[in-house]
Amino acid sequence: MSVIEKELQKKTEQENDYILEAKNLKKYFPIKGGVLKRTVGHVKAVDDVSLNIIRGETLGVVGESGSGKSTLGRVILRLLDPTGGQIVFENEDITTLNNRQLRPFRKDMQIVFQDPFASLNPKMNVQELIEEPLLVQTSLSKSERKEKAIDLLGKVGLRPDARLKYPHEFSGGQRQRISIARALALNPKFIICDEPVSALDVSIQAQVLNLMADLQDEFNLTYLFIAHDLSVVKHISDRVAVMYLGRIAEIAPKKNLYEAPLHPYTEALLSAVPSTDVLAKREKIILKGDLPSPSNPPSGCAFRTRCPKAHERCAIDRPDLINVSEGHYVACHLYDNQN
Ligand code: SF4
Repeated sequence: MSVIEKELQKKTEQENDYILEAKNLKKYFPIKGGVLKRTVGHVKAVDDVSLNIIRGETLGVVGESGSGKSTLGRVILRLLDPTGGQIVFENEDITTLNNRQLRPFRKDMQIVFQDPFASLNPKMNVQELIEEPLLVQTSLSKSERKEKAIDLLGKVGLRPDARLKYPHEFSGGQRQRISIARALALNPKFIICDEPVSALDVSIQAQVLNLMADLQDEFNLTYLFIAHDLSVVKHISDRVAVMYLGRIAEIAPKKNLYEAPLHPYTEALLSAVPSTDVLAKREKIILKGDLPSPSNPPSGCAFRTRCPKAHERCAIDRPDLINVSEGHYVACHLYDNQN
């Protein structure tokens, strides 16, 4: 990139209103071994991830199981403590805040989990589930909390009488609607959606995705949308990040990523997505082997053991995420002008 292009890029970045910035985030889980249970290694679930999320957008994060995408979401929300790096939410560094200091931020940052049956306490009825965060974070009266619950149920397409029922009395799609209502109770600004439709039937997935898109407009929400299904991510995202073994392989506006992927891993993932468009059909790329262990990733480029375009340098140098066009970044030696 020329100096002028770099300046333009910098200017664009400065003009963006980032709600969240993750800088060089790491999350390593220790591996204990031996009689004394000493740390003998680390699972590098998130390994030097930097990304910015623009206010009002949906940033999709895709990758295979084990790529670190869910751990990244939990670290960003401080549900897990990072091993290194920095998390900035609305220009406030929240990386090392304790629970008490995090409390004002908790209401602005919520999460919707994959399995609503596991995330909703089966002993609580819907009213209790929705008002639980209100009891902790607000001074609303009982009647105000009831009114709020009824209002939120309406927003997610459920009837007022649903508030007296228990999670097991609902279908999977309805339970996820309740999870969304609960996440909205405190009027958050930012929601991490961790595989929110993966457990649902395909016919229900689109309904829940459309609901989430409508709520985003109505409540001016920003989403980090984590999923392994590229079709689902395409449906809802403005930009998409592809993760591989704890790192970002590629990040780009949706159109660029789906129509002109650059990273060989993204190309392989997209080639496996069924398409009804004959012209858009790509030759299927079969990746060899399984995802390597994040406790012992390959040297150089982590993808090199499965990459059909790997060359000598890939085993030696770890590729940096470089900017190749507006908003399009890729971590691959094929694009860094030195391969
Ligand atoms: S750096 Fe090398 S191994 Fe990694 S994706 Fe690019 S070509 Fe493949």
